[in-house]
Amino acid sequence: MADDSTASLGVCKLWVDGAACDAADGETFDTMRPDTGEVLTALPRARAADVDRAVRSARLAFDEGEWPRLPASQRERILWRVGDLIEANVEKLARIESIDAGKPIKNTARADIPLSADTFRYFAGWATKLQGDTIPVRTPHLNYTLREPVGVVAAITPWNFPLLLAARKVAAALAAGNTVVLKPAEQASLTSLELGRLVSEAGAPPGTLNVLCGLGPEAGAALVEHPGVDKIAFTGGSDTGRRIAAASAPSLKKLALELGGKCANVVFADADLDAAIGGAVRAAYYNSGQVCTAGCRLLVQQDVHQRVVEGVAAGAAKLVVGDPLERATELGPLISAEQQRRVEGYIERGAAEGARRVTGSAGAAGGGGYFVQPTVFDKVTPEMTIAREEIFGPVLAVIPFRDVEEAARIADATDYGLAAGIWTRDIGRAHALAARLRCGTVWVNSYNLFDSPSPYGGMKQSGFGRENGAEVMHEMTQVKSVWVALS
Ligand code: NDP
Repeated sequence: MADDSTASLGVCKLWVDGAACDAADGETFDTMRPDTGEVLTALPRARAADVDRAVRSARLAFDEGEWPRLPASQRERILWRVGDLIEANVEKLARIESIDAGKPIKNTARADIPLSADTFRYFAGWATKLQGDTIPVRTPHLNYTLREPVGVVAAITPWNFPLLLAARKVAAALAAGNTVVLKPAEQASLTSLELGRLVSEAGAPPGTLNVLCGLGPEAGAALVEHPGVDKIAFTGGSDTGRRIAAASAPSLKKLALELGGKCANVVFADADLDAAIGGAVRAAYYNSGQVCTAGCRLLVQQDVHQRVVEGVAAGAAKLVVGDPLERATELGPLISAEQQRRVEGYIERGAAEGARRVTGSAGAAGGGGYFVQPTVFDKVTPEMTIAREEIFGPVLAVIPFRDVEEAARIADATDYGLAAGIWTRDIGRAHALAARLRCGTVWVNSYNLFDSPSPYGGMKQSGFGRENGAEVMHEMTQVKSVWVALS
């Protein structure tokens, strides 16, 4: 039996000004175990007073503190050390993430946590590579640009990849010399709180990274509105993104929004069908479908439709759903009872609107946890609710198409524009369709590949701004133009 006593859950406190602390009013909220539905632990409930304290700490650290003034190579060394510390704590952090977010331990131990370490190392390298340009202006002046940090960055993250999504924002912001206040999702805050401690342990001065757990409408909203924050980097739902855009407008904060998706995974008849079927199962069900880029709409060319439906249904039925701490588990529970009800509601709606459920029994897979069986719906039309709305659960909608024109039309017939997959042996068609689709990422004969150097983000209602790569370093910096008279 795993050791999930409170002591093994990490800091479990707010991390402000380089130290653990309770909320100013002493209040707490319960965070639950998704695999059992029981209370995991109580966490401090940050509200406006705590947000104010954290932002002041980050403000002071930015305006007068060491972090933005350190030689870039020293920031690089500290961020690299954060990567080392995450790596040294892989087992502990993976266990915390699995208990807190219900993610299978084989995913947290092999992907979430090692990739978070990798993210810090990748962005450590950027600290020494931010530079301006010399511009050939028409007057007798030397004109050059300085690339400077933005200031205090508020990072607000969701629960599906808690440490990894926090790492992407925090590492990029810190590499550029910003200071940060991080507000993780209330359902899965524990590894983010640990990150606060590790960044301090690595040598970052107090105030460089502050972490506040609490509720979105309280801590999150107060952070968005705080006049001491210069930039917001947000990942979450599109409705929350719209609220944040409106709330941050009066103070004109710089904003990047990574929002939801309803991604199409398109299988042409000429594809390597075994690869496409395996890829489609992983695309739809990884992390129990709680992935904004989940390939939840499987567009299949008519000639191979039957074979692909049978293949994905067989693949879905074979997935091992269960205890996130068991090594064999491939799908854990959903994050919350609310999310479980939401997803079950979509499954009922799919059947009621005439789609055919091929696999996935109704009801939970076990115990008091928030489990939902992987479900495949065939005979879905683009107008059905399950083909239009983001479900964020293990539900795959199969939609047949005739030709590339119809595939492109259906793929883009959604408000979202996050990502898409294309499976074909016709490389010309793959390139042409990749260029045509209105989304931020396209995978050809593959799916759900991410890497720190490769930009990531959405179009349309999936948001704006990019994470990762050189793109995010533009988001985390601003340019100053300097003119020097030469005569
Ligand atoms: P939410 O939008 O509900 O929450 C995201 C974060 O915002 C949480 O920390 C939340 O706090 C906080 N928040 C909620 N309300 C406010 C507010 N008024 N002001 C400031 N912050 C607020 O998303 P979920 O956590 O439910 O995550 C699921 C959603 O995230 C899905 O729609 C998914 O598509 C999207 N997502 C997008 C990704 C991308 O890269 N594009 C990646 C991963 C997820 P609290 O938890 O306390 O409510």
